[in-house]
Amino acid sequence: MKVAVVTAPEAVELREEPSPKVAPDEVFVEVGACGLCTMERRLFTGEKRFYPVAPGHEVAGRVAEVGSAVADLPGSPRVGDTVTVDLLTRCGTCSACRRGRSALCKRPQGGALSDGTVSFGAGLSEGVVVKATQAYPTGTAPIEHAAMGEPVACVAHSLRLGGLRAGDRVAVIGAGYMGRLHLALARHAGAASVGLIDVSADRLAEARGAGAAWTAVPDEALALGGKQDLVFVTAGAPGALETAVSLCDDGGTVVLYGAFPKELSVGVSPDAIHHHELSIVGAYSHEPEDWRTAAALIASGALAADLDALVTARFGLAEVAEALKLASTTPVYRVLVGGR
Ligand SMILES: [Zn+2]
Ligand SMILES: [Zn+2]
Repeated sequence: MKVAVVTAPEAVELREEPSPKVAPDEVFVEVGACGLCTMERRLFTGEKRFYPVAPGHEVAGRVAEVGSAVADLPGSPRVGDTVTVDLLTRCGTCSACRRGRSALCKRPQGGALSDGTVSFGAGLSEGVVVKATQAYPTGTAPIEHAAMGEPVACVAHSLRLGGLRAGDRVAVIGAGYMGRLHLALARHAGAASVGLIDVSADRLAEARGAGAAWTAVPDEALALGGKQDLVFVTAGAPGALETAVSLCDDGGTVVLYGAFPKELSVGVSPDAIHHHELSIVGAYSHEPEDWRTAAALIASGALAADLDALVTARFGLAEVAEALKLASTTPVYRVLVGGR
């Protein structure tokens, strides 16, 4: 079985890995497509130096083998099913997992290939083994959509923690891939309006084409979009939190979804938060409930047009270097690898 390993900046090779054994509670998934996320791009460019490493955590594929303990259980994946795969470690026993916050599981994430190479998912490969509980069937949806299960689950988590309700006025800061998924899911959830804020005129034009009610550069957002019930920050740039708070109407919520520079610190007015009952919420990663939502939304086809618009390119596993190069040198939504 072939697995892509990034060995140095701009160096990736395909290694031969023994086919993994499937434990009684696991399934083997033949990878049909794996999305390239920020982590994969940073490893390839050398922005994050951790080598050698087998990345790839946005995985979907076809179930090829099912462990003895989960075979034929109603609702459990069956051989032949297309599934989207949750590759996070959820130990179940740490304090975070015990209170249902397994997005924040304290057990170290990641695994290892047979030669000890660290794996951050190892989804840029011909197959992955995963607990059956973490493989979610996506019905007849195309594999490109199923491969968006992980980011869609992250956004479902973000909407859930933000408490989005039908009728809410929503703004999204950042019109990249994650901003566009927020647009798609918030519209589907019945938001009264969803506006997108970005500095790129091209991305704003594309967001309007995808159903954004209004678009604006940050300085013009309040004048063009007005006050909001919920503001999602998907691009953690300096100034984004201040813009988000300024857009919040009384009782509004800011969700900090995108990563910010670690050293950044900003002032907020405690009295404004008190008097206007504002909430500032962090959203990071995803939980099983969000995967259930994501897989169901993908399977339903309700987001099909939105997800189609976000597939920038698809490459075979043999072309993984080309795919990583495209994803790290050009503005893209999602580049997918595998299955050909
Ligand atoms: Zn991701
Ligand atoms: Zn845990």
